[in-house]
Amino acid sequence: MTPHLYLHIPFCHRRCAYCDFNTYANMDARIEAYVQALCAELGMLARQFAPAPPPSAEAAALRPTIFFGGGTPTMLSLGQMERVLNAAAALVPLADAEITSEANPGTVLGRDYLHGLRALGFNRLSLGVQSLHDPTLRLLGRIHTADEARQSYAEARAAGFDNLNLDFIFGLPGQDEAQWAATLATIATWEVTHFSLYALILEEGTPLYAQLTAGRVSVPDDDATGAMYETAMEALGAAGYVQYEISNWVRPDGGEVLPGIPQQACHHNLAYWLNSDYLAAGAGAHGHRYPRRYSDLLGIDDYIKAVGAGRLPVAEEHTLTPHDLRAETMLMGMRLNIGVSEAHFAARCGMSLDTAYSEALGELVGLGLIERVAGRVRFTPRGRMLGNRVFERFV
Ligand code: SF4
Repeated sequence: MTPHLYLHIPFCHRRCAYCDFNTYANMDARIEAYVQALCAELGMLARQFAPAPPPSAEAAALRPTIFFGGGTPTMLSLGQMERVLNAAAALVPLADAEITSEANPGTVLGRDYLHGLRALGFNRLSLGVQSLHDPTLRLLGRIHTADEARQSYAEARAAGFDNLNLDFIFGLPGQDEAQWAATLATIATWEVTHFSLYALILEEGTPLYAQLTAGRVSVPDDDATGAMYETAMEALGAAGYVQYEISNWVRPDGGEVLPGIPQQACHHNLAYWLNSDYLAAGAGAHGHRYPRRYSDLLGIDDYIKAVGAGRLPVAEEHTLTPHDLRAETMLMGMRLNIGVSEAHFAARCGMSLDTAYSEALGELVGLGLIERVAGRVRFTPRGRMLGNRVFERFV
């Protein structure tokens, strides 16, 4: 068994104005063929990959995970979700697994679907709320209103999703500090275990990018966006949430999965941040089984055709070097507030942290950008502000 699996569902009702993910609108007629191909790819992966032990004691502390991402996974029917989950069970033991689905609030209205997901064994839901301001949601091209997002959140709770994440974006067109502070004050009162808050990234080629360069919209500058990030840290900290990664906060209930990281943190993403191995299936999905990294074909029809021909739908693969592994273990791990454990690094990379980075560590500690505490290396508050200077020393 491989303990972590990402499944990409590349369908959306329509594309949001800021989105550059591998997802397609108006392709609903291909969903069933895609589900069949996805199940077939999972079968091939199960035959090809022998079980991989977790690379360290920290990695072994994580639950097995399956993450349905997208796109909009909740465009699949419950029956299709069940078939994919059953196929995934050949790779990840479902008992005790964290099984997450991303969900667009506009697709899960009504109690039946969410109750159905819960009954299938999904135990974590990640709702893409993004904003509680209707004009902004419209500008972003989201298919839901703020009220519908609230309703989805309440219905997810009622369906028994105790482990519930909400995604929000800040630094949005027209957003100011007061509006963002009001959003934070509202959501801090909701019964949510987890928040992921991301600064808007304006991706070239998106409609929002075109509107911005044409001068039709403007976004807060870097200082204003930085101030919004600090406001988020203060507001969620005051509401009792623990920030455990650059963009992620969790309620500290139910013990810890790693020292300083509450149990209800996203175990799937923790596997990424620990630079563990994970398999992935679906159009454009990226998998990592050291030393091999691969990504699947991007297009839905190319993907279906390749699987139909009986081959893994891999578009690209390359072999990582030990240097790549060490650099990535640092780059990913330093995103966590607890930083990188020396024991984890040594177990994952087969070399002590001091042997790999003695000069960089000495220099960065001397500059006050990182600190070494209880067998871990982590950012100082100043270092976090200058993260790129630290990251470049590990690459
Ligand atoms: S719902 Fe998500 S994946 Fe789909 S277009 Fe919008 S941002 Fe992209």
